[in-house]
Amino acid sequence: MNFDLGEEQRMIQETARRVGADFGVDYWRAKDAAHEFPGELWRAVCDTGLCGIALPEAYGGSGLGMLELVLAIEELAAAGAGSTVGQLFILNPVFGGVALAEHGQEAARREYLPKMVAGEMRFCMALTEPDAGVNTTHIKTFAERTSSGWKINGRKIWITAVPDSHKMLVVARTRKLEEVERKTHGISLFMIDTQRKGLTCHPIDKLGTHTLSSSSVFFDDVEVTEDELVGTEHMAWVELFDVLNTERLVTTAAAIGSARLAIRLGVEYANQRRGFGNRAISSYQGVQFPLAEAHAMLSCAREMNFKAAWLCDNERPYATEANTAKCLAAEALAQATERAMHSMGGMGFARESHVERLWRDARLSQLVPVPQELILNFVAMHDLGMPRSY
Ligand SMILES: Cc1cc2nc3c(=O)[nH]c(=O)nc-3n(C[C@H](O)[C@H](O)[C@H](O)COP(=O)(O)OP(=O)(O)OC[C@H]3O[C@@H](n4cnc5c(N)ncnc54)[C@H](O)[C@@H]3O)c2cc1C
Repeated sequence: MNFDLGEEQRMIQETARRVGADFGVDYWRAKDAAHEFPGELWRAVCDTGLCGIALPEAYGGSGLGMLELVLAIEELAAAGAGSTVGQLFILNPVFGGVALAEHGQEAARREYLPKMVAGEMRFCMALTEPDAGVNTTHIKTFAERTSSGWKINGRKIWITAVPDSHKMLVVARTRKLEEVERKTHGISLFMIDTQRKGLTCHPIDKLGTHTLSSSSVFFDDVEVTEDELVGTEHMAWVELFDVLNTERLVTTAAAIGSARLAIRLGVEYANQRRGFGNRAISSYQGVQFPLAEAHAMLSCAREMNFKAAWLCDNERPYATEANTAKCLAAEALAQATERAMHSMGGMGFARESHVERLWRDARLSQLVPVPQELILNFVAMHDLGMPRSY
């Protein structure tokens, strides 16, 4: 087994570190306070080729894999962005890139993917509904067949970056739950314009990730054409999971980078802060151990995520590894941000210390894209052979 990174992989990390350093903690603090989309950062990501790392060369990408993508995301997060930068990659190379490159119609791939790689087109995805979160098969948004395609009606919630996206991957039922043989049947994917007639969105006020808006989305007789179908009509469940499993790899990489950043900020502060007898507070084990423990946990999550990404790139099953890595990374990030903040005492509560932003945004990693409980359900069923509990 060889754990060494190749020359190209090290160069990708270096490029990501450089871009990340150009948009460091102060940039993100200002964007977060202004509730503004980090457009300048995303432009730099696209200009340096980082957006298209894992996309086929035929569509403007670099033809590399998820392993190279997660290496880049971790460095961007660790350089100052924190975990939220992962969502930018989820929106674009995953919701747009994986969905289209693997399951899109050829004309859509040729038209949209090069624009995405160049930063000219951005994506979002609408899956979650007010009455269907982790129970995805219970979505009610319905695409009804018409003479020219479909007409969508329904409602989605928590959709990220709708006002800052051009295209939306919509997950809809094309057959009602009560009419299908299996509940995973009757689901279809569509890639539609966010500006389409009948599609409206309303912002949701929230705790963190302020650089990316969250919206409720309403579909009122939204017309969809044949060429906007992605994947197999009625049977897109497995195709949807190609998107959702790669989403986990990206989430994990960003969580690990953010945990690294929080620990670095906490250690730097603790090394210079003087306590009793003029000793640095970092000399106390009460300060050291929780940060060391978070570091140990994130190191395990990191190696597991590399394995998951490698398996994905080699077209082998990787759901167990991706889920396990995400579970560990979310815990490591929670502990790293919490303890880095605690190490700073009152200053941890100040915006200028940056850790409070990482701490707010970190909470999301335990819930999204999939809550920890659902990962443990998966591990219990698939890896331990235990019965389904729900
Ligand atoms: C900031 C933010 C951004 C998001 N972005 C997007 C986006 O861009 N697109 C999109 O489609 N969605 C998005 N989501 C939605 C997100 O994916 C869902 O919130 C998430 O999947 C959980 O669904 P839910 O909120 O409906 O929780 P629920 O499904 O209602 O679950 C609530 C709680 O019950 C627990 N639970 C449920 N079932 C079980 C069980 N069987 N065993 C044990 N525990 C269980 C869950 O773990 C959870 O803790 C976003 C959410 C947030 C907060």
